Amino acid sequence: MRTCKFFTTFAAEMHNTLLVDIILPLAITDVYTYRVSDATLLDAHKTIHGTAQVPIGCRVLVPLGKKSIIGIIYRKHEGEVSENVKVRDVLQIVDETPIVNPQQLRLWEWLSNYYMCTLGEVMAAALPSEIIDDNYSAATTQYIQLAPAYLAIESQKQLLKDLQRAKKQEQLVRDFLRMAQNNQVERRVLLEQSGVSGAILRTLIDKNIFLEEEHPISRLRQYNGDTQTPHALDNQQYRAIEEIRDSWKEKNVTLLHGVTSSGKTEVYIHLIEDVLMQGKQVLYLVPEIALTTQLTDRLQAVFGDKLVVYHSRFSNAERVEIYNEVKQASPKSSPKGKEFNCEETPHPPQGWGGGRLILGARSAIFLPFSNLGLIIVDEEHEPSYKQQDPAPRYHARSAAIMMAQWYGAKVLLGTATPSIESYHNVLSGKYGLVEMTERFQGLQLPRITMVDLRHQYHRKEMYGHFADPVVFRIREEIARGKQVILFQNRRGYAPFLQCPNCGEVPKCPNCDVSLTYHKANHFLTCHGCGYNQSSMSHRPSLITHCPKCGAAWKLHGVGTERLEEEIQILFPNARVARMDLDTTRRKDGCQTIIDRFAKHEVDILIGTQMVTKGLHFDGVSLVVVLQADMLVNRPDYRSVEHAYQMLEQVAGRAGRTGERGDVMIQTFDVNHPLYEYLRQHDYKGVYGQQLEEREIFKFPPFTRMIMITLRHRDMNRVEKTAHALMIGLRTIFGERVSSVIVPQVSRRNNQYVRQLRLRVEASANVMRAKQLLHQCMDVTLHQSAYKGTMISIDVDP
Ligand code: ADP
Ligand code: ZN
Repeated sequence: MRTCKFFTTFAAEMHNTLLVDIILPLAITDVYTYRVSDATLLDAHKTIHGTAQVPIGCRVLVPLGKKSIIGIIYRKHEGEVSENVKVRDVLQIVDETPIVNPQQLRLWEWLSNYYMCTLGEVMAAALPSEIIDDNYSAATTQYIQLAPAYLAIESQKQLLKDLQRAKKQEQLVRDFLRMAQNNQVERRVLLEQSGVSGAILRTLIDKNIFLEEEHPISRLRQYNGDTQTPHALDNQQYRAIEEIRDSWKEKNVTLLHGVTSSGKTEVYIHLIEDVLMQGKQVLYLVPEIALTTQLTDRLQAVFGDKLVVYHSRFSNAERVEIYNEVKQASPKSSPKGKEFNCEETPHPPQGWGGGRLILGARSAIFLPFSNLGLIIVDEEHEPSYKQQDPAPRYHARSAAIMMAQWYGAKVLLGTATPSIESYHNVLSGKYGLVEMTERFQGLQLPRITMVDLRHQYHRKEMYGHFADPVVFRIREEIARGKQVILFQNRRGYAPFLQCPNCGEVPKCPNCDVSLTYHKANHFLTCHGCGYNQSSMSHRPSLITHCPKCGAAWKLHGVGTERLEEEIQILFPNARVARMDLDTTRRKDGCQTIIDRFAKHEVDILIGTQMVTKGLHFDGVSLVVVLQADMLVNRPDYRSVEHAYQMLEQVAGRAGRTGERGDVMIQTFDVNHPLYEYLRQHDYKGVYGQQLEEREIFKFPPFTRMIMITLRHRDMNRVEKTAHALMIGLRTIFGERVSSVIVPQVSRRNNQYVRQLRLRVEASANVMRAKQLLHQCMDVTLHQSAYKGTMISIDVDP
């Protein structure tokens, strides 16, 4: 009778057609409308279901052109389809329960609106591709069981008796009985332990004594070690935690401004423990997972298997499993969050139940959280939180702050060098502020000295690219058994070659970029597109000599590889390692170098910005910055801010235990005001000075910036399009639109690049501005003269 009733309801609904709006992982439009036919409902569930059985957030298979494609149900509505609109049918409903929850969809909407891209582009970034392709398959392993006939002790005795003549078979059964738990042993383990061949096992299976069964297993590494109690806090940390809690009572977002090595991590750990105890999830964002092995170890030691690490270097299948793991970490109804007290809490606390700590780089914001309680954005100033390409060009910090609102979670931004935006939000009262001004155990912040390169070169007091006083100090420190870090933000041997005779410069054929010489592999390469000229693929002489006049190239500039060579010559007995993109390509490349340096198997570590980030080494007493000018003089309104952050951070690697550390900064421009702020570790000074400049020149946070980038293989075409768009935009936005910008790298991958910059007042209605921008682009770019130009939009670049 039940079925009958079901049928009636269903029949009643058939007057109208059920339509669904589907997000497809494409960049064209936001949603595509399909019809859910009776047949689809039948197919998917083998019985007829009502429309309630088509949940939002489920995957569906739909036709697109001649292909079929997986999409996500975004909305459903009933309506009548007019004859002349062609609406195609959903082919199959893939999931019975949603794989994307409402908060996730809300995040997707926000990202697509704010960063001006389609929902499909967000979807493609948000879901592991195997979920979209629907070709994920679980890893499996074989298990061996004893057939039901032999489960009783008596029959087992009889079996062993029967097998007495077949010694090996008997042996295997005995081993099985010894090892089995719940009548089950993994096949591989059984064979390994008993040392019997697979053929013997096969015989027993053929005789129906053993059964073989396939079980799915997790690809995720399991943690079996013990967990430790977090360290007891010192006074400053204790006070910081209390202040953070107080601040959260009024504001969702709090900035923890703590100098390098003040012990911020330990503060995070205590806050995390507290949230886990309420059975909730914590998202811990870091700029770059490869560089956080020290942190991962520390968190694992405290939180054991509650820690889930997520990053893009995992295989797709692993990412699917983490996705599902986070989704299933179901909220255990929480015992009311106990008040924090580090002394009394048993470890591991019982309340952790469904709580999970998810540690990840920016893309971890896309995981299907169910009951997020806290988001930590560590090193919140790091530019790598912003995705460059492809769309969505989102900032994970901004996304995290939005998400926290929807989940009712708190946000902690932590750093020694806040971003100007965040600090501005503190001073305007939007975020709370908690400060830690002392290093842990009262250690002193490093002493910073400038080395005047102009003076040094003039007096010829240089060894290669090292000033005499720097060489002297390195020698001293190594002799004392200390370690030294050398920072140069450029890899390769020489970034620029030129013929001394005719002035020829080897350039990339695809980009407007000069080729960098790499000595170890003896090739010239483009750091823009990866183009390579090697002695294998080209005439060897091309690498070393000018093709026009035959003179040997003169090498200009210095990369990490060249510094390594110079250091080896200066200190032939020192153990030297280099950490940059070239030495860390393998999966564990970073970790190996970090481990060796931490174990003091290396005296001098040379590296790019990789060495500036969050690392903690006991033995480092000296940090040297080779060419600070390169950081300070970039054509970007943020260059001073970023230079300060990078230099203060790399300086922070010195003197983290025991005596005070030293930092030497080589520069041609010792009088740049930035250096005085650095010497005083005066963040607020830099902030004030930068803010003043930005106000005068109308840069963020006083304006909101949108960068429009146009690309085309034909330079004329892109020039004309950019110009037309500029004219169109100026009729709406006037002087807020820049003239056409030719970027420093004006051709990349065979495409000419032009840009327009739109700046609207921070107080203006930005959503409206974006709509107008969209409209104007649509109108201009539909004209045939401008077709074919690729356009990308970057909001808050
Ligand atoms: P930050 O993140 O502020 O740079 P860390 O959290 O890395 O600083 O702390 C610096 C050092 O001090 C680390 O070696 C850390 O283990 C140690 N440390 C910090 N707090 C404590 C504590 N409460 N007890 C013991 N060691 C601590
Ligand atoms: Zn190139």
